[in-house]
Amino acid sequence: MTSKIALIKSENYQNIKDKIKSTLNLLGGIENFIHPGQKVLLKPNLFGYDCPKHAATNLEFLSAIIDIVKEHTLNIYIGELIASDQPGLNKKAFKKHGLIELAKEKQVKLIDFQTSSLKKTTIKDPLVCAWADIVEPMKTFDFIINIPKFKGHPHTYITGAVKNCFGCIRDSERGEIHKEFQGENFGKAVVDIYSGMKFDLTIMDAIIGMDGDESPAYGSEAKIGYILAGTDPVAIDAIISKITGHELNLLPTIKYGHIKGIGTANFKEIKILGDKPEKRPFKHHKNYINLVNKSKTQNKDIKNKKSNSDTSNLEFPTIDKSKCTFCQMCAINCPAKAIIVDNENRTVSIDESKCIKCYRCLESCQGKAIFLKK
Ligand code: SF4
Ligand code: SF4
Repeated sequence: MTSKIALIKSENYQNIKDKIKSTLNLLGGIENFIHPGQKVLLKPNLFGYDCPKHAATNLEFLSAIIDIVKEHTLNIYIGELIASDQPGLNKKAFKKHGLIELAKEKQVKLIDFQTSSLKKTTIKDPLVCAWADIVEPMKTFDFIINIPKFKGHPHTYITGAVKNCFGCIRDSERGEIHKEFQGENFGKAVVDIYSGMKFDLTIMDAIIGMDGDESPAYGSEAKIGYILAGTDPVAIDAIISKITGHELNLLPTIKYGHIKGIGTANFKEIKILGDKPEKRPFKHHKNYINLVNKSKTQNKDIKNKKSNSDTSNLEFPTIDKSKCTFCQMCAINCPAKAIIVDNENRTVSIDESKCIKCYRCLESCQGKAIFLKK
């Protein structure tokens, strides 16, 4: 079966509603997907409380999708959970990112996934991860729209349509998944979790994303200039990853998303409607560059190994003591207990013998004091 993906060039967020409508019209319009009165959930990507503007789904982009969906149903909700388990921080992130005001203005409801009940979900034919506690709202809506922001990522090297499912499980479980599944296996676990949910349509904000060497929170703005839409998350991720110059067979969520059958990364099975994809400059994550270099020296047998938990291409984190405020959030969030807290000298340090390179310390450091080693 062919996956139809709509692609429209857009250098900025001006007239964004018209541009998203044009993208959806290539697929027959939103009325081709949503029936009048259906209960619709929008799942954007807020990423973190204090993240740079372009690490999160653009607010005007989300607002335009609400307006488009509202032409068919008024029963609209927005749900999300940032990368933190700190009580109340998700709600604060809603306010900081402008979601509370937007919901009030548009008269849609917000769902704080941090306080939602969970549904234990068995994963069918798991690659590695047999079950997940998924937030209940993901099971109760008539129609769910996935609204990812395209960015670089230290483990899956890109984050887009497939990886956006991670915002539908609690942060503590994300930590456990990092601990249990490393290297390529982490990407397999993300694909397994995606398969336990029901996203009906993806509309990707790849107009301005984030690239760079660290976590997306530390990166820099990347002008990519595209809106993508379709029902196949793997095809969407594959197209935008090609545009940004990645090798698809090195991106675990695409490689294993294709293998598991949640979508296709085979361009013979993808029909691109609208504008032609053109290569855009994108600064690849340093862990990805390490992987590319490593893959050139490895023999095929190692490259094709089915179960791969190798993390040798991932850099260790390091702490810039001059920026550290000794808040200890990194130690609280480290699933491997690899952060040594020295209360006497009010310093923290990383025990590399215990570190599993999950980078949850980076994501939880409000002072941006943790970097990947050069
Ligand atoms: S989270 Fe950052 S600022 Fe807080 S103790 Fe750790 S390194 Fe220091
Ligand atoms: S030190 Fe950081 S990267 Fe290492 S295991 Fe702990 S949280 Fe993960």
